[in-house]
Amino acid sequence: MLIPNTHYGELKDSYLFARIAEKTAAYQREHPDARMLRMGIGDVSRPLCPAVISALHGAVEDQARAETFHGYLPECGAPFLREAIAAHYGRRGVSLSPEEVFVSSGASDELGHILDLFSPESAALIPEPAYPAYVDANVMSGRRIVHLPTDRAGGFLPEPDMAGDADLIYLCSPNNPTGAVMDRALLRAWVDHANARGAVILFDAAYEAFIEDPALPHSIFEIDGARTCAIEICSLSKTAGFTGTRLGYTVIPKELERRGMNLRDMWVRNRTTKSNGVSYILQKGGAAVFTEEGQRQIRETLKLYKSNAAVMGSTLDRLGIWYTGGKNAPYIWMECPGGLGSWAFFDLLLREIRVIGTPGEGFGRCGEGWFRFSAFGGPEDTREAMARLEELIRRMGRE
Ligand code: PLP
Repeated sequence: MLIPNTHYGELKDSYLFARIAEKTAAYQREHPDARMLRMGIGDVSRPLCPAVISALHGAVEDQARAETFHGYLPECGAPFLREAIAAHYGRRGVSLSPEEVFVSSGASDELGHILDLFSPESAALIPEPAYPAYVDANVMSGRRIVHLPTDRAGGFLPEPDMAGDADLIYLCSPNNPTGAVMDRALLRAWVDHANARGAVILFDAAYEAFIEDPALPHSIFEIDGARTCAIEICSLSKTAGFTGTRLGYTVIPKELERRGMNLRDMWVRNRTTKSNGVSYILQKGGAAVFTEEGQRQIRETLKLYKSNAAVMGSTLDRLGIWYTGGKNAPYIWMECPGGLGSWAFFDLLLREIRVIGTPGEGFGRCGEGWFRFSAFGGPEDTREAMARLEELIRRMGRE
């Protein structure tokens, strides 16, 4: 009889978002007129920018005429998009060859597929709280996981001296869910650690576009030495509203080798075997993001999300509640007041002020007692949610 991948049996139920939806629906059934404010979701609310829409339309027209029609494209990405992305890095002072850029259908897909490059015997280090897919993708492939908890004392940032013996290192900056951002010195320490051990860093830069402090790195390749130890996984989901359109890219430098094997070349082989690439239409839309006009337009949308984050940050500042994120990230990670657990605080917000956030416990055990708010909602809902939160917490303080 066929043997299935029994590691699927080791997965824990991914109950976080299902449980949030269940609790919210139950409340809504009992209070059908209540106006709920959803401050938990990681999805964006603003549409694609006009430059992208116009490029998508143009690409559809191309596909309508024999002279401009495109069939299969190169599996690793259309040259025009790989070149546009490499040039975008170049403008930030990071020199990449287009052959080091791989177009993908998004970071989630890539975070799963890229594990093909590594033996299941190499352990994965996952600093927590973390995006839940890191753990699940490694459980599915039977890899040992070293959980690295972070905490308030360390600003929810992982330090390499706590890394243990893992050889596949996940770093996410700006972080989901904490919004914490790694500075150059910390990233350099991780790069040095990885090079010394022969480890590989999977750097998840899905939220790099939210960084506004010029001293903070957007890419791990801004750090000397990263070309021999890092893979960067990026997404246009939050940068440019592609959550439902699907497009991302991955950078693997030519110098990245382990045991005499070149990881970029292995990834070319992987993609040409397991993928026929991303659609021409989407790649045309994606290329528009990297034009001057596209960059200007996406910055407008990012500004709106950041102003939501600023409203959340100033509310928590006034209340004297400790948090990370919000300044160079679309997430705020706050300590639950009054020593409440994550789910108890979730229930309180739902019941008392009809605001829905995300319990921190869903991102790893060390997230218990913490709570995530997202800045991707509308500005009015954000202001209303924060006004309700402020009133509730002041009332709790008086009782
Ligand atoms: N990485 C992180 C840290 C995320 O938060 C997300 C989505 O929320 C992703 C990757 C997945 O992004 P994509 O939409 O490109 O699959």
